[in-house]
Amino acid sequence: MIEQLNPDGTLQHLVTLEGLQRPLIEQLLERAQTFVRPLDAPSSRSTALAGVTVANLFGEASTRTRGSFELAARRMGAEVINLELHLSSRSKGETILDTVYTLQSMQIDVLIMRETEPGVPGFVAGHVSSHVSVLSAGEAHLSHPTQGLLDALTIRQHKGNFGPLTVAIVGDVAHSRVARSAWRALTLLGTGEVRLMAPPAFMPEPEEFPGCKRFNSLDDAIAGADVIMMLRIQKERMAETSVPAAADYFAEYGLTPQRLKLARPDAIVMHPGPMNRGIEIDSAVADGPQSVILQQVSNGVAVRMAVLEAVTERVRRLRQGA
Ligand code: ASP
Repeated sequence: MIEQLNPDGTLQHLVTLEGLQRPLIEQLLERAQTFVRPLDAPSSRSTALAGVTVANLFGEASTRTRGSFELAARRMGAEVINLELHLSSRSKGETILDTVYTLQSMQIDVLIMRETEPGVPGFVAGHVSSHVSVLSAGEAHLSHPTQGLLDALTIRQHKGNFGPLTVAIVGDVAHSRVARSAWRALTLLGTGEVRLMAPPAFMPEPEEFPGCKRFNSLDDAIAGADVIMMLRIQKERMAETSVPAAADYFAEYGLTPQRLKLARPDAIVMHPGPMNRGIEIDSAVADGPQSVILQQVSNGVAVRMAVLEAVTERVRRLRQGA
């Protein structure tokens, strides 16, 4: 696994939450919280990233992650370039390292990558110059660390301590990088009980989520839960023949207002987006009083500001001669 910390203990890369320590996660969440503003207030700004150049390199579709990384960087004063991989030279056969070295030659300091292929962000992090940081914006089905952090921040805002909580992660767990990173964040933060609910075809191997309670009935999984994290069916990661019929899936695994009554009355409902309304979640739940889905989006900007600030801290100090 790639070393993500600088020799002085500061964060250089964020490719995965695996191997990070709880105090670092807590520090990032604390810092992110300081960037959260009410929606009708002016957005949080700083000059922390003045002189820093950030490249967004996206090889998969993205709305929330891409938009919030860009806003986070700009609101902190960075210069930002956005490259769609299908329009870049990688589509002409350039290797990923040639693309990365090309960007490095333009004095890029932070490379934000979304990749379909497992292992690429870590590989790139192992090859960049020591002043460059690599942030994963989603790696195949494996990892989405800033999503894990924003989910943790959202839960913390509503529930405070993780120790007494029961969190149910529901849906296409097998193909979900969101589930994997959320589970890591929840585990690091000492969550009392993490439940997985997936249809049999979407249940991951137990070794991948050690310590989780596994369910294939939605009603059982959400009974008494404090937090319900719904997941999208990742059609793009499965053969067409494996995609379940929407109506059947909704009947058995869709979160409806009736089912939600089984959870604790103050339970919150999360979804990383994009939602399949009427498949994994009923609109009445998605738009209902227990939904914190849009708050997750707001927290995404705050978390990405905190991460960008953290990974550029050492370089900024060195440049200022401190
Ligand atoms: N937006 C999230 C991701 O990139 C969740 C999803 O696509 O279902 O993994």
